[in-house]
Order: sequence, then structure tokens, then C-alpha cells
Amino acid sequence: MKTVVGKVVVLGHLGVGKTSTITRYVENSFSHQVTPTIGASFFTCKITVQSIPIKMQIWDTAGQERFKALAPMFYRNANAAILVFDITNQQSFDSIKTWVDELKRNVEEAMVLCVVGNKIDLMHERKVSKEEGLKYSNSIGASYFECSAKDDQGVGVVFENIALGLLRMS
Ligand code: GDP
Ligand code: MG
Repeated sequence: MKTVVGKVVVLGHLGVGKTSTITRYVENSFSHQVTPTIGASFFTCKITVQSIPIKMQIWDTAGQERFKALAPMFYRNANAAILVFDITNQQSFDSIKTWVDELKRNVEEAMVLCVVGNKIDLMHERKVSKEEGLKYSNSIGASYFECSAKDDQGVGVVFENIALGLLRMS
């Protein structure tokens, strides 16, 4: 039986909730104090889409995103990217563009792209509108989602969408 395997890199400003979003999905847990991991770490998970098993290797950064430069091994053979920003932080949204440029410089093959506005539980502090998020995502050919890793809202669909994209590209 066919199995699809894909490497998924998760990018974005420090503190937007990349690690929290991944652990919410992979372990269904949330921590208020996330220990910044040293070096890159990855999680593997399996999901079935249209009866086809998809194995995703999800790569998380570990503080190096602060320097906007990741080791080439981080990008090597990546098939999908999740670009995360914090809806209460305009700068984190603006920096997505920098990450997209980084991706283009480092990955030649076509990728499944997804932009995610996290922390929608802090809606009253929102600085980036859904329209802005959607407009930018459309301009780079990415899907757009909003979620809260804290409240476990909308996280699953992000990864399901990535899995579906990997299946379509396989
Ligand atoms: P990373 O640097 O992008 O990996 O971000 P982290 O996952 O380490 O999260 C940074 C901080 O934001 C931590 O204090 C998290 O508890 C918090 N955080 C992450 N996701 C959410 C969320 O959906 N809502 C709220 N309110 N806080 C969050
Ligand atoms: Mg992190």
C-alpha cells in the first residue's frame, strides 16, 4: 500500500507559538513555559487522509529563529512549510515575508505552504486582521488558518491541510 512521507518545517518569529502548536497537535498538550530546545528537534506523526497513510516529520526550530538563519539541514528535502505568526503581534506577521524569502533561497522544489495566525484566544488584543492574513497568504499561494494552541482551537485542521497537500503533491 502507498505511504506518503513528508518533511514539514515550522517557521516564524520567536514566541509566536511554533513549539506550542506542534506539541498541541502531536501530544495534545500545552505548557505556559516552553523550554527552548537546543538545536533543531523533530516530531514524527502519522495521519490518514483519504485512506492513505501520511507520515509527517515535523521540524521545529529551537531559538535560532532569533537570528533569522537556520542550518541548511533544516530546509533540506522539505516538502511543506508552516509559517506561524501571533495575531497580537504585527512584527511577527511582517517577518513572515522574511521567512518566505529564506525558504525560496533554500528550497528549490515545490512546497505545500500554510500561514497560521496563532493565539486567537487573545482576540481582544488582535493587531493583524483575518483579511490581511488571507490576502498575504493568497499572494504567496499558501492556505491560511487561525488557531489557538492554548485553547486547542483550529490546530488539527492546519496539519490535516498539510497532509492533504503532501498527498496531492506525491
Ligand atoms: P515559539 O518560540 O514560536 O516556539 O513559541 P512557544 O511555543 O515557545 O510559545 C511562546 C509563548 O507563547 C509561551 O509562553 C506559550 O505558552 C505562549 N503561547 C503559545 N501558543 C499560545 C496560544 O495559542 N495562546 C496564548 N495565549 N499563548 C500561547
Ligand atoms: Mg520554539
